[in-house]
Amino acid sequence: MFTPSDDFLARSAAAAFAPLPQKPTEAQACAAMDQVFALAEQSWQARRSSLDYLRSAPASACRAGCGWCCHQQVGITSLEAIRIAAHLRDLAPETAAELVENLRRVNSQTQGLSTGQRAQSRLACAFLSIDGNCRIYPVRPLRCRGLHSIDANFCAASHQDPAGMRIKLEAGQLRPVYLSVPESIFDSALSGVLMALKKLKMTLVSLELHAAVSALVDDPKQARRWMAGARPDRALALVPDKR
Ligand code: SF4
Repeated sequence: MFTPSDDFLARSAAAAFAPLPQKPTEAQACAAMDQVFALAEQSWQARRSSLDYLRSAPASACRAGCGWCCHQQVGITSLEAIRIAAHLRDLAPETAAELVENLRRVNSQTQGLSTGQRAQSRLACAFLSIDGNCRIYPVRPLRCRGLHSIDANFCAASHQDPAGMRIKLEAGQLRPVYLSVPESIFDSALSGVLMALKKLKMTLVSLELHAAVSALVDDPKQARRWMAGARPDRALALVPDKR
């Protein structure tokens, strides 16, 4: 389960949902999610262009077309899943059909896998294009937005040998290469979404991207049920590694 924190961006993100009725429509929930995405992106853009940040933080190695990090489990909230499913419906029919086919294929290959097993599968996200770009970029999950690396070679090696890299990280032979500032900004926005979910009496369970969006594509009425407080099926939840 995600754990909410409390700070200004989190409270601003939660405030995007404040005008919504207790049982919002899908369109209202999606519009509020778009506000959260915009708030968090503005926060990150302002921070990354500040002199302080430019002087002290290492440069991001992330570039368009580099999708090494898009081969692993992604945890999302029910509201993010609802936003992505609505986005798929708004796409041109051929594009939507292709993405839904990818989604169902990857979901059938990955559903039920733990974090480590999913990384070990080395399967690309259903929304990653062959040239390495996100095909749902405007509505991509908050967790994807917060992941910025300072070393693309580390990301490539983590994709080639996820278990080996994990052992080295746990043994202290390697250090993580992800920037903490974007991670904490997008995690704050995520906390705001969690506060809103709590207020709307929706589940706080972390869902697996492919499983949750596939479920909504297969049965769009589930979005209404989730927003009315129904808990998504257990099979859609993120599967952590056993320790
Ligand atoms: S949703 Fe987009 S950014 Fe996130 S893992 Fe998939 S392709 Fe990558």
